[in-house]
Amino acid sequence: MTIEERVQRLPLNLRGRLLRPGDDGFDTARHVWNGMIDRSPDMIVRAADASDVVETVNLAREENVALAVRAGGHSAAGNSVSAGGVTLDLSRMKRVHVDPTKRTARAEPGLTLAEFDAETQRFGLATTGGVVSTTGIAGLTLGGGVGWLARTYGLSCDNLISVDIVTADGRLRTASADENQDLFWAVRGGGGNFGVVTWFEYELHPINPTVLAGLLVWPRSMAHDVLRAYRDFTESAPENASAYAGLATSPDGVPIVVVIGFHHGSVEQGEALFAPLRRLGPPVADTLSALPYTAAQQMLDGLNPPGNRVYWKSSILRGIDDEVLDTIVEQAEAMPSPLTAALIEFYGGAINRVGVQDTAYPLRNATYALNAISAWTAPESDAENISWTRRIWETVERLSPGSVYVNFLGVGDEGDDRVKAAYGPNHARLASIKAAYDPTNLFHLNHNIKPTH
Ligand SMILES: Cc1cc2nc3c(=O)[nH]c(=O)nc-3n(C[C@H](O)[C@H](O)[C@H](O)COP(=O)(O)OP(=O)(O)OC[C@H]3O[C@@H](n4cnc5c(N)ncnc54)[C@H](O)[C@@H]3O)c2cc1C
Repeated sequence: MTIEERVQRLPLNLRGRLLRPGDDGFDTARHVWNGMIDRSPDMIVRAADASDVVETVNLAREENVALAVRAGGHSAAGNSVSAGGVTLDLSRMKRVHVDPTKRTARAEPGLTLAEFDAETQRFGLATTGGVVSTTGIAGLTLGGGVGWLARTYGLSCDNLISVDIVTADGRLRTASADENQDLFWAVRGGGGNFGVVTWFEYELHPINPTVLAGLLVWPRSMAHDVLRAYRDFTESAPENASAYAGLATSPDGVPIVVVIGFHHGSVEQGEALFAPLRRLGPPVADTLSALPYTAAQQMLDGLNPPGNRVYWKSSILRGIDDEVLDTIVEQAEAMPSPLTAALIEFYGGAINRVGVQDTAYPLRNATYALNAISAWTAPESDAENISWTRRIWETVERLSPGSVYVNFLGVGDEGDDRVKAAYGPNHARLASIKAAYDPTNLFHLNHNIKPTH
């Protein structure tokens, strides 16, 4: 049978749908969050369940066609759609079952964080996600998963109990602390390199349905004072509090400095923690208030719409001393787009109580990261925005231990060295587990770990 004949027969073996160029819905399905990515696969398989995943993995391996795996579509690097080949689209696999007694959830990979949170919060429970609720649970968890609850409960991947995963040989396996332990170690940070996860099982935690969250915004002229006060906040913050700080532009075009805060527990205690920041001078905007956890999870969604052209670069920071802060403020002066932000993220707490080599995610000593998140709309502005992002990153990289969170690697030019930097001391073990489960590197459209035989 030729590959074309096999593809023609594929719909008979699928519970989901095969989309080919020209089909209704194909064009929408090939687009991802980052508007810079404009690729057209030869086919998109919209999987309905694990058997569709097995079918597609077998087809890609046996016919030697490129295979991309898409869940929430938020890969900033655009890894989840292939040029030619097959894109395995998991976004319709959205079942989720919460066990409130055991405080666990089983969730399919097509869920966004908003969908997952909505279900777990019906039982007053939650687990760590990211800070933009349109992101997929799948890519986020497989790369690590940092969000507002991470300082209290660890990364999303630290809350994994097990995964069901289709490996390159087309076998559906379970990986957990008791079964396929090496695979379980690798998927907790190693990204999509080891197979296609069809179910995630998470540990959940009781979360007060009302949390304190929101944005405090000042004019950019106060950046030095605000960032120093932000540093003081992070140096004494309890683990149930977190905050990111950003240099950005307001919707009416004014350069601003912003602190995005989150606290769960007593609202009064949260208010007291953020009071020194408010005392810096009246913010021009202040949305920090008591609100449902699910709303806090969505508070940054509007600032991160799909379709913008986006170029990210990121570095773990060795700390945020005056030199680091002054450098970021100076570089932000030249930000070319009003949609762009330079964001300092704050980690630590429970994330750093896990050993560097206990899971594939190695950044257990990191406390801060700088994300240069450039966003714009006109293709003719690509060069200017990309070159600003590279410039701020190169300046800040000198103040970094050289490491980076894999889920924050950006489009195109990151290369093997950056993937190695992302995995640090865990790269060699990941490469050997890759050789055991994916010796021909079928899963290579990702931040790729090459098999070491
Ligand atoms: C606006 C925005 C905000 C973000 N905020 C955060 C944040 O707060 N915290 C954080 O940690 N990260 C954050 N990220 C990064 C995010 O975690 C990664 O981009 C992640 O890969 C997105 O997952 P996805 O399923 O949406 O993406 P997709 O693009 O669908 O997938 C990304 C990659 O993951 C792999 N993959 C996806 N599903 C599977 C699967 N089921 N099995 C195997 N491999 C799979 C594939 O290799 C794919 O290329 C953010 C990204 C964006 C765009």
